Amino acid sequence: RAKTTGKNRYCYFSTNLQLELNERVSIEKSLRTALENESLIVQYQPKYNLVSGTITGAEALVRLAGEDGSMIPPDKFIGFAEESGLIHELGRQVLQQSIQTAKKLERQGHPLKIAVNISAQQFHESDICNQLEDMLNEAALPSHLLELEVTESALMTDFEETRDILTQLSSLGISIALDDFGTGYSSLSYLRMFPLDILKIDRSFVKDMLADEQAKNIVDVIVHLAHSLGLKLVGEGIETAEQWETLKQINCEEGQGYYFSKPINENDFFSLLANEPQVV
Ligand code: C2E
Ligand code: MG
Ligand code: MG
Ligand code: MG
Repeated sequence: RAKTTGKNRYCYFSTNLQLELNERVSIEKSLRTALENESLIVQYQPKYNLVSGTITGAEALVRLAGEDGSMIPPDKFIGFAEESGLIHELGRQVLQQSIQTAKKLERQGHPLKIAVNISAQQFHESDICNQLEDMLNEAALPSHLLELEVTESALMTDFEETRDILTQLSSLGISIALDDFGTGYSSLSYLRMFPLDILKIDRSFVKDMLADEQAKNIVDVIVHLAHSLGLKLVGEGIETAEQWETLKQINCEEGQGYYFSKPINENDFFSLLANEPQVV
């Protein structure tokens, strides 16, 4: 009996492994195809001013069309893209699409900032600043309409180099947000040493804030600290009216989350803006 169980269990694991392997192979194939055809899907999640409730911009989030027509989320392929080096081409294409979208928005009378996630590897490409400058020039997009979201891992590698890149980007007029703040190493010295513009409060704090007094206190401290350093705040993952209210009360300027809107296709974002009530 023990033997049978053992064997079954072995079969069970091996079937699962086989499925996982098949899925991975299929995702890798989809990614290579999408890069070749320049057919990555970029969705936009609107960001809101928490006081007025108006849309201030959006975050660009990449997706992949699966072989079966499904929509594959980035957590399933960014890791592979980073290991395989495909992240450079992926990052370039997401930037290209996002800049084009920002330009269309500007033409439609909505000069809104689009924030693009940049992986650590892409951030450290030797010519990243020139690439960005060229892309902005080519699209004739004013640089203040582009924001880059970097994580701490991008800032942790080479201090001098990181500061040089950030300084150059900032002199180009591109704003920089530190993503997922509060997770990872969160060395507070980053905030002082690097020219950053925005802190994004990680979703985990926003989630725990209402039930857990300590989480709320941490967010409160982050907001004060950021403000004293001249940084603006964006709360991530707002799912309820209470979370919105709490962040607003502690003076977090902006936020995004399912409560307001999920990430949506470019056209749906345009319609959302067209139908937004005008503030007078
Ligand atoms: P992130 O930059 O922190 O993006 C926020 C993630 O939270 C997005 O997941 C978004 O869909 C999700 N989200 C937004 N509001 C809510 C909410 O109210 N509740 C919950 N539960 N989730 C919410 P997504 O699109 O799956 O992206 C995951 C991560 O993948 C991103 O985290 C980012 O690190 C990475 N990523 C996405 N697009 C790109 C890209 O173009 N390049 C690179 N390098 N990384 C990307
Ligand atoms: Mg982000
Ligand atoms: Mg984030
Ligand atoms: Mg994240």
